[in-house]
Amino acid sequence: MRHAHPAGIGMTSQRTRDRLIERLQEEGITNRRVLEVMRVTPRHLFVEEAFATRAYEDTALPIGFGQTISQPYIVARMTEALLEGIEPSKVLEVGTGSGYQAAILAQLVPMVYTVERIPELYEQTRKRMHQLGYRNLRMTRSDGSWGWPEQAPFEAIMVTAAPEDVPESLLEQLAEGGRMLIPHGKINGMQKLSLIIRTSATHYERETIETVSFVPLIQEQFR
Ligand code: SAM
Repeated sequence: MRHAHPAGIGMTSQRTRDRLIERLQEEGITNRRVLEVMRVTPRHLFVEEAFATRAYEDTALPIGFGQTISQPYIVARMTEALLEGIEPSKVLEVGTGSGYQAAILAQLVPMVYTVERIPELYEQTRKRMHQLGYRNLRMTRSDGSWGWPEQAPFEAIMVTAAPEDVPESLLEQLAEGGRMLIPHGKINGMQKLSLIIRTSATHYERETIETVSFVPLIQEQFR
């Protein structure tokens, strides 16, 4: 393992983590299971070593390859909104990145499928998730705007990179009654974080949850 202290010391100690959880509560996060899972998950093991001491600040941080681990508040907010009122058996995440969001989901639902397009990041995160012992997680490297058709349908889908428009394939792979959270809109700027609920085979309800700023979802021609 890169870091000698999974439990954390100093700026990565449990006390520092507890302070982040208090802050998330102050910001309006109420789901106790989400807060507890974030309290015990060692975020400092998901960021570049140079940033480990900042891992429990409520901020996005670099994870290499021009990508970022999302701000804890956004992770908490998206997880809370995704799981509200449902108990999905299968969740799809698009944009694995560091694996932190997948790790949070894996502690809350039976099975997580996650897709990453950058080969080096995929390999690095695959090793990390194995070392950390997440077993109810399947990863693949591809363009996640196509979803993961072989594993569909999903009762919940979380997209952690922003396309201009919501990809049709993801809408199709959402189960009836399922919930999707996706940032979308202008690539270089703020985007809308939408909650999309599939109410029937042909109907979807949409609601805007927040204004957010995500890295772009890079859509490739082929899977
Ligand atoms: N969920 C991540 C975490 O917990 O660290 C943070 C995600 S980061 C903001 C966005 C990720 O989406 C990056 O790793 C990026 O490479 C990935 N990405 C961008 N376009 C993608 C695509 N078409 N398919 C799959 N992953 C993509």
